[in-house]
Amino acid sequence: MDTTLHTLKAYRGRATLARQPARVLIDVRALKHIGRADLQTLSEVTARFPFRASDYYLGLIDWTDPHDPIRRLIIPDPKELSDFGNPDASDEASNTPLPGLQHKYPDTALLLVTDQCAAFCRYCFRKRLFQTDNRETVRDMSAGIEYIRQHTTITDVLLTGGDALALPTPQLQTIIEALTQIRHVHTIRIGSKMLAYNPARPLSDTRLHSLIRKTIAAGKNVYLMCHFDHPREFTPLALEALSVFREIGVECLNQCPVTAGINDDATVLADLLQQCTDAGCPQYYFFQCRPTSGNAGFVIPITRAFSLIDEARARVSGLSRRVRYCLSHATGKVEVVGLDPERIYARYHRAKNPGDEGRMLVFQRDDMATWLDDLVPVI
Ligand code: SF4
Repeated sequence: MDTTLHTLKAYRGRATLARQPARVLIDVRALKHIGRADLQTLSEVTARFPFRASDYYLGLIDWTDPHDPIRRLIIPDPKELSDFGNPDASDEASNTPLPGLQHKYPDTALLLVTDQCAAFCRYCFRKRLFQTDNRETVRDMSAGIEYIRQHTTITDVLLTGGDALALPTPQLQTIIEALTQIRHVHTIRIGSKMLAYNPARPLSDTRLHSLIRKTIAAGKNVYLMCHFDHPREFTPLALEALSVFREIGVECLNQCPVTAGINDDATVLADLLQQCTDAGCPQYYFFQCRPTSGNAGFVIPITRAFSLIDEARARVSGLSRRVRYCLSHATGKVEVVGLDPERIYARYHRAKNPGDEGRMLVFQRDDMATWLDDLVPVI
């Protein structure tokens, strides 16, 4: 199916949603299109992994299709309860010198500014943050900002969580203004899926726009790290929000995992690459879905993901081929660069241990392997 056409048709049918602030549902039992017995099962899932969805995003679902990718992305799945993975598959804990701050590579720091998102992706690699006993995010970011001030190698700060644009703008402003005062910070990245989940929110937030304008005028680069998983998320409203950010000087890039039933299809990935380029938000990374607890139904083998991405890349122009396919492993970002009948070839795109920077990795080919730790190295 032409996924773009589907989006536009679906969207036109719901034109009244445009520009209205999205309402958020947190009780899966409020979903009208799912039978009572199924809702009971889904409630058991959400007791462990919370549910959150915007009415805007639910409005993009084709409820007549039980395999609809948008549905799959947002509606809980009983497979989430299967015994699989661990809560922190990339061992982020080992890069966390203080609550709310991660520092893995010398030049880059992450501030986990919120434990909220406009909606919850069912495959989220940080779903541990949404569980009530988690303490990895803090409201007061001053200790994290002080850490960045004292570490002069940090030139690039990613505001994440959660979704950085789920944080109320006055709080975001306090953080961004403090970072703007730090000379060695050149780039502030805002990690967000808000343009897919609730584009009216950033589109209408003039205080956010003027904050970004001021930050850029003060000499900082501002990047919006978007998270579109499927071409159908590029609604006219999402495209409008993207163009507003671009007009005020924000560099937009996209990144997402390749996930079963959502985008594990070469046609869908090619369409996504093309739409990202057309929207001025080129795809930066495709990620291997991490073996996080609850993600059993979303993970696909590495060789399959690589082959799908390769096929998708072959269908788009050079501008759309810049994307890298990486595993965010505890030891660094490992880019898979090739396959042959016997081997998988990879290299460290980013390495936690400086001695691994750029190092080539060769593994025995294993078409069932889904994570680096499953592979047997050859050299
Ligand atoms: S938007 Fe990001 S942090 Fe939020 S649920 Fe999705 S993947 Fe997780």
